[in-house]
Amino acid sequence: MSQKIVRVVLEAPIDKSFDYLYQPTKVDDAIPEVGQLVVVPFGRRTVVGLVVGTGDSSDVPVEKLKAVAYCFHEIPPFDKAWMDLCRFVASYYHRTLGEVAINVLPKMIRQNKQKSIQKALKVIDEPVKGSEQQSEEVPELNEDQRRAVEAITATEGFSTFLLYGVTGSGKTEVYLRAVADKLASSPDGQVLLMVPEINLTPQLEKRIRSRFPREHIVLQHSGLTESERLRDWLAIMTGRARIILGTRLSVMTPAPKLRMIVVDEEHDPSYKQQEGVRYSARDLAVWRANYLKIPIVLGSATPSLESWHHAKSGRYRELALPERARENAAHPEITLIDTSKDKLVDGLSQTLVDAIEKRIEKGEISLLFLNRRGFAPVITCNACGWMSTCHRCSAYMVFHKANRILRCHHCGLERRIPKVCPDCGNVDLQALGRGTQRIEENIRLRFPQARILRIDADSTSRKGSLQEALDAIYHGDVDIVIGTQMIAKGHDFQNLTLVGVLEPDAALFSHDFRAGERLFAQLMQVAGRAGRDAVRPGANPSQVLIQTRYPSHPLYQAMRTRRYDAYVSQLMDERHMAGFPPFGFQALLMAEAKDISKAMMFLQQAKVLLGRREGLTVSDAIPMTIMRVADIERAQLLIESASRPVLQAALTEWIPQLRNVKANVRWTIEVDPLSI
Ligand SMILES: [Zn+2]
Ligand SMILES: [Zn+2]
Repeated sequence: MSQKIVRVVLEAPIDKSFDYLYQPTKVDDAIPEVGQLVVVPFGRRTVVGLVVGTGDSSDVPVEKLKAVAYCFHEIPPFDKAWMDLCRFVASYYHRTLGEVAINVLPKMIRQNKQKSIQKALKVIDEPVKGSEQQSEEVPELNEDQRRAVEAITATEGFSTFLLYGVTGSGKTEVYLRAVADKLASSPDGQVLLMVPEINLTPQLEKRIRSRFPREHIVLQHSGLTESERLRDWLAIMTGRARIILGTRLSVMTPAPKLRMIVVDEEHDPSYKQQEGVRYSARDLAVWRANYLKIPIVLGSATPSLESWHHAKSGRYRELALPERARENAAHPEITLIDTSKDKLVDGLSQTLVDAIEKRIEKGEISLLFLNRRGFAPVITCNACGWMSTCHRCSAYMVFHKANRILRCHHCGLERRIPKVCPDCGNVDLQALGRGTQRIEENIRLRFPQARILRIDADSTSRKGSLQEALDAIYHGDVDIVIGTQMIAKGHDFQNLTLVGVLEPDAALFSHDFRAGERLFAQLMQVAGRAGRDAVRPGANPSQVLIQTRYPSHPLYQAMRTRRYDAYVSQLMDERHMAGFPPFGFQALLMAEAKDISKAMMFLQQAKVLLGRREGLTVSDAIPMTIMRVADIERAQLLIESASRPVLQAALTEWIPQLRNVKANVRWTIEVDPLSI
C-alpha cells in the first residue's frame, strides 16, 4: 500500500487546488478517484473538498503535506459530465470551481454528517413503494399537442424546443407524454422537470406520481428538510431516481443518466439565482442538454425575448399550442377599463364591482390581482409632509394594518405605527396608496356576505397555509380571492370566471428595460387563471378586466388582442436599437460599502483598470435604484458588448485585477443580469 497525492478544490474564492496525502487505512480502501468527495484539514478547520486530480508527486515537499482525513467512498465519484458542468459555471460566471461544486452539495454533505449519509443511502436502497395502477386518466391530445409530442419524441440527440402555448393549452400533458416516451425507451434513464417556484411543485408532483406510479420520483427544492434533500440528491446521483422535479437548484444535481430536460415557464425570473453564484438555471439547462446531446423543452405562454429570438433564428425549434386544450374552455375576453372615465372608488371601478356581483350571484369565483402587499405602501402627515421612510434604506416602510406596524420590505425592519407625526405632533396621519390588505378591507365592506380570501407573502408565511388557501379555492369555499403574483402562476382553479387586474401601470414607466416584458408575462399568466375549465351551461363567460390609465398603450392593446408576437416584435426592435439582450451581452459589477462614495470610488477605479477595449462599452458608475439597504450603500457599473466572447475575455482578464484593488468594499460580478 503506497501513499498517493490527491489534488483537491475547496469552497473558497481562491482559484487553485491543494495537494494532500492519501494513506489507505484498510486493505480494501481504494485510492480516491477524480470526482470523489473527501474531508481535509484546511487551516484550523476540516472541510469537504472535491478531488480534481491524483498523482505520485507534488510541488510541495511531501513532509509538508497534510493527510486526507476521510474519503466518502460510499458516495460514487461525480462523472466527467457533472465536473465539466461545474467547470463551465465557474468559468462563465467567474467563480472558482470549488465555490461552484461544493456550494451546490446538500448541506449534510458539506457538513460531513457521515451517519446521516449512511442512513440516507440505506433508505434509497429500499424498493420504491408505488401503486401498480395508473390512477390518472390520460387525456386525449388535440392535434397541436400530438404534433408537439411527436416532434419531441422523434428527436435523437440535442435539440432545444420552445413550446409556445397559451395558458390552458395543455403544455404539461405534452411534457408528461414526452417523459413517458423517454423513460420507456431508456430503461435506466433519468428526466429532469424544472418549475420556477416551490409552490408549483405539489400540484405537478401529484400529477406525475399518479401518471408514473411505479417510477422513483424525487424533489429538489429549498423547501425540503436537509435530510430529505440529502436522501433525494443521493437517489439522483446514484441513478436510482428516474424523475426529478425541482426548482432552479435542481439544474446542478449530478444526474448521471440524464436523458431529457423540461423547463416549464422558461421566461420566469425565478430561474435566476440572485445570490452566491448568480447563474441562470434555464441557460444552464440548455448548456447541459447540449453537452449531453439530449433534448430539452422550454415551455411558456410568453417566452423570454432571448428564447423567442433563438426560435425565430432557427436555433430552437418552435412548437405552438395556440388553442386551449379542454373542450369549451374558450379564451377569456380581455377588457381594458379606462380609469380616467370609469373613476375608481377605493381602488375599484364600477364595471369591476358589477362583474364581481354577477359572479357571486352564480356562485363563481373572482380573482383580484394586485402585486403589492401590505395595507398601504407609505403613510404621511398631512400637516408637515413627513413620510414613513426606513432609516436604514432608501425606501418607505409599508403600513401593515392588521398588526399596526410599519415594515420595511427591503431590510425587514419593523416599528409600531406612530400615534402622532414624529416631526410635528399632528395626529392626522394618512395612508397613501393601496396594498392587498386595503383592497381586502374595501371588498369586505362592499360585499359583506362574500367569502373573501387574501393570498400574499404575509397571509401565507406559516408553513402549509398557502396549500390550505389553495385547497379552499379548489373546493369552491371562496367567492373572492385577492392576491399578489403568488397566485398568478400555474394554479389550475375551477369555476373561476373573473380576473380583475388592479394598478398594473407602474411597470410601463420603469427604468428597467425588461419591465414591459415581465408585466406582459405576469398579466397573461394571471389572465390565464380565468375559465380554465369548460364553461358550464348558464355560467358567466370568462372575463379579464384590466383597470388602467393608459388603455391605448401597445402592451395593453397586445393583451386585448392576444398578439404577443406583435408586442414582442416591437420590443425586439427597441432592444436591437439599444443593443440590449438578446442583441447584446451584459455584465454588472456591483459594489457595497458603508458609504456610497467608497463604492463609487471602487467602481471608478475598476473602470480605469478595464480601460478601453475594442467592442466593449462601459457605462459610468451609478448608485443603484434603491441605493441604501440595511445601512449598506450600493452602486453598479454596467459592461456591454455585442459579442459574448469579447465580454468574457475582458472579464477573465479584469476580475483577477479587481481582487488586488485595496478598497473597503464588497463587490460581486453578475453575468447576464436580469435587471440593471
Ligand atoms: Zn407632521
Ligand atoms: Zn429598510
